Amino acid sequence: MANTGVTQLTAQLPSHRAAYTNSRSSSMRDPRYDILFEPVQIGPVTARNRFYQVPHCNGMGYRDPSGEAYMRRIKAEGGWAVVCTEQVEIHPTSDIGPFIELRLWDDQDLPAVARIAEKIHEGGALAGIELAHNGLNSPNLISREAPLGPQNLPVVSWNYDPVQAREMTKSDIADMRFWHREAVRRSLQAEYDIIYVYAGHAIGGLHHFLSRRYNNRTDEYGGSIENRARLLREILEDTREMCDGKAAVACRISVDELLGDEGITRAEIEDVIGMLGEHPDLWDFVLGSWEDDSVTSRFGPEAEQEPYVRGLKALTTKPVVGVGRFTSPDMMVHQVKSGVLDLIGAARPSIADPFLPSKIESGNLEDIRECIGCNICVSGDFTMAPIRCTQNPTMGEEFRRGWHPEKIRPKASDATVLVVGAGPAGLEAARSLGNRGYTVSLAEATRTLGGRVARESKLPSLSAWIRVVDYRENQIAKLDNVEVFMQSEMTADDIIDNDFNHVVIATGAGWRSDGVGRWHTKPLDIAEGADVLSPDDIMAGTRPRGQRVVVFDDDHYYMGGVIAELLAKEGLAVTLITPAAHVSQWTTNTLEVARIRKRVIRAGIDVRTNTAVTAVTADGVQTACVYTGDEGAVAADSVVMVTARLPHDGLYQELLSRESQWADADLRSVRAIGDVWAPATIAAAVWSGHRYAEELDEPQSLSPVPYLRETAELAVEPVMYLPITPVQPVNA
Ligand code: ADP
Ligand code: SF4
Repeated sequence: MANTGVTQLTAQLPSHRAAYTNSRSSSMRDPRYDILFEPVQIGPVTARNRFYQVPHCNGMGYRDPSGEAYMRRIKAEGGWAVVCTEQVEIHPTSDIGPFIELRLWDDQDLPAVARIAEKIHEGGALAGIELAHNGLNSPNLISREAPLGPQNLPVVSWNYDPVQAREMTKSDIADMRFWHREAVRRSLQAEYDIIYVYAGHAIGGLHHFLSRRYNNRTDEYGGSIENRARLLREILEDTREMCDGKAAVACRISVDELLGDEGITRAEIEDVIGMLGEHPDLWDFVLGSWEDDSVTSRFGPEAEQEPYVRGLKALTTKPVVGVGRFTSPDMMVHQVKSGVLDLIGAARPSIADPFLPSKIESGNLEDIRECIGCNICVSGDFTMAPIRCTQNPTMGEEFRRGWHPEKIRPKASDATVLVVGAGPAGLEAARSLGNRGYTVSLAEATRTLGGRVARESKLPSLSAWIRVVDYRENQIAKLDNVEVFMQSEMTADDIIDNDFNHVVIATGAGWRSDGVGRWHTKPLDIAEGADVLSPDDIMAGTRPRGQRVVVFDDDHYYMGGVIAELLAKEGLAVTLITPAAHVSQWTTNTLEVARIRKRVIRAGIDVRTNTAVTAVTADGVQTACVYTGDEGAVAADSVVMVTARLPHDGLYQELLSRESQWADADLRSVRAIGDVWAPATIAAAVWSGHRYAEELDEPQSLSPVPYLRETAELAVEPVMYLPITPVQPVNA
């Protein structure tokens, strides 16, 4: 038997089976949380409880509408009373490309948008649609229309697109109102229950009208807050008139732009609600820009928005919803009981756990997969790729791979599986294989579960990341068919001498310290005796020998910045050198890059961007400008190389080289997953572990594309060189 095998193999080692109890889940809701399950009237519709999935981007949008539809459906199935789309562009002048959101430019977009509402309804929730004219935020790269804004200003898109918005004339304003009405008409046709007017995040164009930062008009749409809110009022009135009791009207608005008197202030929003408080059926409060509202756990706690939102509810009789990365039901109850919110808004917590409401309802709080606040989900949108989540590997895979966050198909054989390594990949593989019913042994070399997550969550401000381990450890503890063996370092002999049918190697990767990474693809010249450390050394507690340390960041995600921050906090003089233009450049995709830079500056870290370390000398490093090659030097006692990782694949390679011995041991497959297969994010490791579990013993796809794709339908070909008339789709 597999389990006996591990115990025998490690008998000479102080092997400790994890002291897990098979505590049964309760199946009753704690009465303290009853209030969260009260229905809430939103104009003409009723939310079945207070759980409200606010609009959120997902990188699928118009390109992968069925992918989005199934993702939203699963949230409805998980108990959210309201499930919304992301921003939906109402017109080609509202084109936010290259970002992939939804569109309702004309009827051609209706089937996709309608399918999403249909799937949300199938799951039992109300469907909300966030209509948006993105105004100054739309560079119109795809439509090539001139952007529109309250005044002549460069667009405020993320990529500094070299295009300006045109100051809207009265006729443009009338057009915008017409486009919005048309979009409302189509939303009703698509059977949405809640229709948004979007004035938030400096994304919705109405935000730009509201804000003194962007609106210096001298007509009745500029000047006083009453004037700046005029277009919002008109569009709310238009929307209400079009809805005519068939759907609720929601208004999403930034309650403070965090720019002082330069932008929208809380006092102004109080005035707006004083004027328009009864216009929509629901207020959806957000904070500042998207960067302000979707703060990562590294920079902001749960419920960070509360002080900004508190008190606004008293200014309207309409229900209010707001977010705060809420995962704690006690915090949710506090929001309702203390009169801050009526509905518990969530984007990220609903991504990490689409079944969060039903788990609270059934009293299974320990099963909640809490969001870790890493914003990998946001990176999907920023990289125009389908949404992904560190905690929930099924996110974005519901339609195309048929994955479900709470269900997995039963095992296809009685095979036994050994998982080697209990990092995020191994833990997720063991959990999901266990859920399928396989007999699983999880062997971990150290005394700690979690691998890199256990180490990295001890770095400054990353403690919430341990939830990746906590969730999986708890779930595995409930599975009688999964045994965990600690301090059980496996060798190829251990494995081949026993009778596991499948072996999955999840032994991770280690940081290299030779300087190889993106900039240098060959090892650097390092002077003999120089003190060169890797992030693994730092995480293991080793510290630089001297006071002056260079951190060379050629990795560009969080690690370089975090290590620089850690060492600066400990009192060292830190110089951070990176070939990129920004510190932790990839975190532009997680909305963190500006906050990281601010923290690095405040920590007194000397930053040299666009610079590579070219050699480590006895008394520091040599550098070169990445553009000119101009050389320089930085005096230092030690260097931390944050460049790249190497897979710990010795065991895997040895097992492959001994394939001729597998049959005698009834060993049918050996696979590598997670960082040992290809070092990447924690999200990628979790996903890799999940994929292994989903696909074990399943027939392999004959297609090179192992998932369902939605491809564009070809339009009728236009007659070239003649004035173009609008092209109708084949099935129009
Ligand atoms: P991943 O991100 O792919 O999950 P990690 O590096 O986080 O990888 O975790 C790998 C885990 O594998 C670590 O906890 C490590 O201690 C463990 N490990 C490495 N080699 C062995 C081995 N031979 N036997 C058992 N566990 C191992
Ligand atoms: Fe939360 Fe990270 Fe998942 Fe986003 S990717 S929902 S921040 S755990």
